Amino acid sequence: MERAAIKLIAIVQCHLVHQRCPGYICDRAFVNRTGGFAGLDLAGDVRKLSFTCGGCCGRALHRKLALLKRKARDLDGIEPGSILVKLASCITKDNYHGPACPHLDYLKTLVEKAGLAWSCDTHISKRSDKKRAAGVYEAG
Ligand code: SF4
Ligand code: SF4
Repeated sequence: MERAAIKLIAIVQCHLVHQRCPGYICDRAFVNRTGGFAGLDLAGDVRKLSFTCGGCCGRALHRKLALLKRKARDLDGIEPGSILVKLASCITKDNYHGPACPHLDYLKTLVEKAGLAWSCDTHISKRSDKKRAAGVYEAG
């Protein structure tokens, strides 16, 4: 089935990493359509917001997404099919901040249970990519 055009990107950051990261580089990747945003069809007016998983084990994400869905539809007519949840690279990849989130599969399940689509990665650091290729960080 063809997916509706993306009208809203919801970046989910690791709650722990967020204590030191304002998410600027994720935002920059969205603006420049690089990293995990490259190749996505983001034509037209695509809005973006960022929030965290709420802390381990990430269960708060389900309620955040339920509220997001309701507000986006009720206030702005954005249907759930037009929302894409982006799991930030600090969740999906082994990197400078530490290994990938141990609850990654659970987070994906929560997004699906909320009736939304997910996609991995936001900013992708070239330096971290080199370290993953060299085996310093886990690949993935
Ligand atoms: S991926 Fe990087 S820039 Fe984005 S929220 Fe995580 S640590 Fe911050
Ligand atoms: S559940 Fe994963 S993404 Fe969320 S705070 Fe814990 S380690 Fe970070």
